[in-house]
Amino acid sequence: MTPDSATETPCQGEQPIPLTQVRARHTRQCVVSWGSHHVTVGGDAPVRVQSMTNTDTADAVGTAIQVKELALAGSELVRITVNNDEAAKAVPYIREQLDRMGVNVPLIGDFHYNGHRLLTDHPACAEALSKYRINPGNVGRGDKGDRQFGQMVEIAARLGKAIRIGVNWGSLDQDLLARLMDQNANRAQPWDARQVMYESLITSALDSAAKAEAIGLDGNQITLSCKVSGVQDLIAVYQELSRRTNHVLHLGLTEAGMGTKGAVASAAALSVLLQQGIGDTIRVSLTPQPGESRTQEVVIALEILQALGMRAFVPSVTACPGCGRTTSTTFQELAKQIDDFLRGSMPVWRARYPGVENMKLAVMGCIVNGPGESKHADIGISLPGTGEAPAAPVYIDGEKAMTLRGDGIARDFQQIVEQYIDKRYGARS
Ligand code: SF4
Repeated sequence: MTPDSATETPCQGEQPIPLTQVRARHTRQCVVSWGSHHVTVGGDAPVRVQSMTNTDTADAVGTAIQVKELALAGSELVRITVNNDEAAKAVPYIREQLDRMGVNVPLIGDFHYNGHRLLTDHPACAEALSKYRINPGNVGRGDKGDRQFGQMVEIAARLGKAIRIGVNWGSLDQDLLARLMDQNANRAQPWDARQVMYESLITSALDSAAKAEAIGLDGNQITLSCKVSGVQDLIAVYQELSRRTNHVLHLGLTEAGMGTKGAVASAAALSVLLQQGIGDTIRVSLTPQPGESRTQEVVIALEILQALGMRAFVPSVTACPGCGRTTSTTFQELAKQIDDFLRGSMPVWRARYPGVENMKLAVMGCIVNGPGESKHADIGISLPGTGEAPAAPVYIDGEKAMTLRGDGIARDFQQIVEQYIDKRYGARS
């Protein structure tokens, strides 16, 4: 039977499919300063990537080296633990060494329990830090807690420092939680326990911000975070937090976990929120695999922002997953080699070739999608699949430019990439 095309439901839409875009953020802007440098966070600043050292801060040299590694990997703010007198004494030396090495990254001091005393007893530490992280659940209870919180905020206000009020569900203000639990018990229809926890996290952050502003700290200098370790919990909390405040928001799961699980959980949670315009600075709190570099958490954070199209840090390599049409590992090796080459070159290229981070490459395994994908990239190579002629066409700016053959395809392709980058981006520098 011949279908009657006039009465069929059309497959083709009548309206153009809307383009997706990241929703605009609406936060204030915080200026985090050190020496003659500063980095802006929030407002119209790009979403910033931050990380945290896992060295003993009292080891000034070891900590400075790790801060440098994190900064070179792309971390724009680095937090360090300041937990005792030895750590507080080391902070100005860490700053000094970073300045000597030309590492322009602000240091955030992470304080719990004794921050009021450490910042008072060690003025050089208070001065060397650009920002203080204060956990309202760990400043003490009742009036004593208020006094100790106030002491830290006063120092920040006097020295022109920023603060992050970092609430964490693992160390939530227990008095506040108990009060909200009691209120909930009196409701005609009590909320779910998780909803009470969400409310406690947000109330703790907003109350603390109000107290800090009442003490005299500029509201723009306050960043808020309410960290939890569940993806859906984080999304729920930040959607509501963002609705109630225009303070700068720091985003991240408190304990993302190890390896793939940590990376995926962070990407899932952060992507949903960032797409909604929520989050001015992010951290991927990854538990490093034994022997793994601390910089992995920075790499993942950069990848999340780049994958969302929010920022570009390194040229992207599109590589196909491979299948039965390409049974050799040649294209996997070439894709990895090119990716490593691009990442390894970026610390130098960033200054020499402005804009190179937006470049797109393709390394494809066979003729099925190879030429098409390569034409979409700035440079692409389509390697021969099983049974295809041993030739690899290279496409530059959408046109077939040459065909590589023989054992030196990887070396030749890398040279072509280098020449392209120099020609296209070198002229601008
Ligand atoms: S491009 Fe070829 S080798 Fe790669 S996934 Fe597609 S069909 Fe398989």
